Amino acid sequence: MPGTILVGAQWGDEGKGKATDLLADKMDVVVRYQGGNNAGHTVMVGGRTFKLHLVPSGVLYPHTVPVIGNGVVIDPGVLLAEMAALDAQGISTAKLLVSANAHLIMPWHKERDRLTERYLGSNRIGTTGRGIGPAYGDKVARLGVRVQDLLDPKILSQKVEVVLKERNAVLAKVYNRLPIDPEAVVEEYATYAEALRSRIVDASLYLWKALREGRHLLFEGAQGAMLDVDHGTYPFVTSSSPVAGGALSGTGVGPREIDRVIGIAKAYTTRVGAGPFPTELTEGPGEVLRREGVEFGTTTERPRRCGWLDTVVLRYAARVNGLTELFVSKLDVLSAFERIPVAVAFKIDGEVTEEWPMTQTEVYHAEPVYEQFDGWREDISGVTSYSDLPRAARTYVEAVEKLSGVPVTAVFVGPGREQTLTREPGQ
Ligand code: IMP
Repeated sequence: MPGTILVGAQWGDEGKGKATDLLADKMDVVVRYQGGNNAGHTVMVGGRTFKLHLVPSGVLYPHTVPVIGNGVVIDPGVLLAEMAALDAQGISTAKLLVSANAHLIMPWHKERDRLTERYLGSNRIGTTGRGIGPAYGDKVARLGVRVQDLLDPKILSQKVEVVLKERNAVLAKVYNRLPIDPEAVVEEYATYAEALRSRIVDASLYLWKALREGRHLLFEGAQGAMLDVDHGTYPFVTSSSPVAGGALSGTGVGPREIDRVIGIAKAYTTRVGAGPFPTELTEGPGEVLRREGVEFGTTTERPRRCGWLDTVVLRYAARVNGLTELFVSKLDVLSAFERIPVAVAFKIDGEVTEEWPMTQTEVYHAEPVYEQFDGWREDISGVTSYSDLPRAARTYVEAVEKLSGVPVTAVFVGPGREQTLTREPGQ
């Protein structure tokens, strides 16, 4: 069963790009299963930095086949621009495959995303404005346009016309906006059809065959468990399923093909956009985390909200994903602190609980119960083996393992490939 799923165990931006880099050597296929160009994966390879939004990180490794699965929503103009930028940097995108069943982000999705946010006012989600929510909304409402529709110009123009009839009425009557011209959309998307035609495949079949041939597959998640539309802090979530279950429905692969589910978590916590965040620090150490961790969004460059590590979140992520191991990223950022609090439980209306609350109201009332850990106050970014970490840093990692209930198998002490410390069980 050579299937590995990699998921974010917090609110995204945990370092999945770097984790993919660590795993890619042994992988033959790297497949994205959800999200779209709301994601931003920063990967440093050979001293060069690549920022990927839609193309799976596997593209950076000549031996892997990158695949965009059916669960992804694709803005084809963005995809082609990203491919062109990679090709210009000497990274071949020749092997990239795209599922025929993936949905397309259409111009009305982007417009709707921005308009809805504006209308929500102070209740806005703080989306990335890339049209993600409206594209998934249309998918579920059965009004979506799929990648395979690019192969049939008649169907494409019929779908665009039918959807725009209703969308244009809403744009004009509700939002007082100009209508979108269906012909212009069809013309634009026809050019994308030409550029993408040769890459469109039955991705589920391709992956099934690859698994039968014993090839190793990495399912690369975007965002994180707490942004999952079902299991995250709804409604302050993205519109897809970043959890491990999403890797199956988002690619058309069965659960028996998976043998590893790796979660990745920062040694502290961040989130972008609105929504509850129990361990958030609005000033003081929060500022230090943002500065030391360079916590600004890859996609929108927004400053990220920062806070201490929340192991209630990690236990929850371990449960809803069925994590078999955990990578801990950015441990070096904590070198700045004398004492490091870690949330081990929540106090909600006087009651202490170790579980993520059932209702959103309780999440808003949750006060973290902290356990204090000693800092190590020394630069650990040059450490090359786990056993060479200062005792206090190892105690911290071991506490994360114990509190999350998941073996920590890798620790990152910087963005570079060599700043990765693998850890044997019990080390
Ligand atoms: P959307 O995915 O653009 O609809 O945004 C919904 C929420 O998910 C917002 O709070 C975004 O900031 C957040 N979000 C979406 N993608 C990412 C990501 O890659 N990292 C962190 N947060 C994200």
